[in-house]
Amino acid sequence: MSFDIDKVRADFPILSRQVNGRPLVYLDSGASAQKPQVVIDAISRAYGSEYANVHRGMHYLSNLATERYEAVRTTIARFLNAPHEDEVIFTSGTTEGINLVSYGWAAPRLQAGDEIVLSVLEHHANIVPWHFLRERQGVVLKWVEPEADGSLPAQKMLSAITPRTRLVAVTHMSNVTGTVVDVAAICRGTDVPVLVDGSQAAVHMPVDIAAIGCDFYAITGHKLYGPSGSGAIWIARDRQAEMQPFMGGGDMIRDVSRDAVSYADPPLRFEAGTPGIVNQIGLGAALEYLMDLGMENIAAHERGLRDHARARLRELNWVDVQGDAPDKAAIFSLTMQGAHAHDIATVLDKRGIAVRAGTHCAMPLMQHYGLSASARASFAMYNTMDEVDALIDGLSFCRELFG
Ligand code: PLP
Repeated sequence: MSFDIDKVRADFPILSRQVNGRPLVYLDSGASAQKPQVVIDAISRAYGSEYANVHRGMHYLSNLATERYEAVRTTIARFLNAPHEDEVIFTSGTTEGINLVSYGWAAPRLQAGDEIVLSVLEHHANIVPWHFLRERQGVVLKWVEPEADGSLPAQKMLSAITPRTRLVAVTHMSNVTGTVVDVAAICRGTDVPVLVDGSQAAVHMPVDIAAIGCDFYAITGHKLYGPSGSGAIWIARDRQAEMQPFMGGGDMIRDVSRDAVSYADPPLRFEAGTPGIVNQIGLGAALEYLMDLGMENIAAHERGLRDHARARLRELNWVDVQGDAPDKAAIFSLTMQGAHAHDIATVLDKRGIAVRAGTHCAMPLMQHYGLSASARASFAMYNTMDEVDALIDGLSFCRELFG
């Protein structure tokens, strides 16, 4: 299917609303994306006529809900080109996925002095779970800085690996600068297990886990145009075999007695309790929608937005763009002399333009840039060239106000 931006926009009801008396220009998809009607309909259908608890019912609705829910595992595996669908573990998002790896795989295996290599580009979700291991069991965190242009060469990550390295934890795409990291080259260059945070990359480019060759790959549904509280982590079978369950409860057991417990096979072993049934069904609808549009087509459209935004931002020599690497998504972290990031976001909001201001859950990266905050414009597949221009006009207006 070809990419028809007008049709795509019409699929997202919220995009036709006004904010502060102006047409909404939504440039905060990096924080959370808007939802297409197919996702809203899937949620409504699931609750309206197909809802029951999953996996345990002997009745029609439970079987139907289980079928709908489990089908999403297959959809996710297809979306990520994952080798086996039982390697897809449902989570409430990337944060839960990475915590599962930290508690279930790393904590029982890593000892004091063992090292985890991670980049300064990481989101807190791919930092704090490793800090737990540093605080609680003396694991050493080794940080790799990005280059001046925001890029993160694979070789730089590989150079930080020593005989004590037990894990490389790296983002596939920065949520602050949009930098794309060549995670396949990192995986090719080492035998150390690699965890990839795919929260942003999976939204903006085709992901092929089989080709990347990583051990763990985390995604979060609400950025993928699906419901908040949905997501998954792909974990290679070999790594699953090394893991202990993180949470205990219903659905993840085989047998429980007073004296003993045994666990269900993966993936259920790592999915304790009643899951986010309808959230995942909504995510399935979102991924089908993305695959119908074609991730290549989406990426091509967004490259156009990136190039236009980059060119227009370069005209504004009073705006600094942090980390404007050649290979990046249409995500721009911006600062301006004389105006705080919060001022920029407030002025833009009055013009109907939604951007995020703050540290973007990436404080080590903001420290690297010597900033307490930036304003982030994060574009998505439903944005247009006119919206790029609206951002530029808004920034120019800021400049007039704040000098
Ligand atoms: N990693 C990156 C790169 C992100 O952008 C985000 C969300 O902002 C996360 C991890 C955390 O995702 P979630 O809060 O959905 O678990």
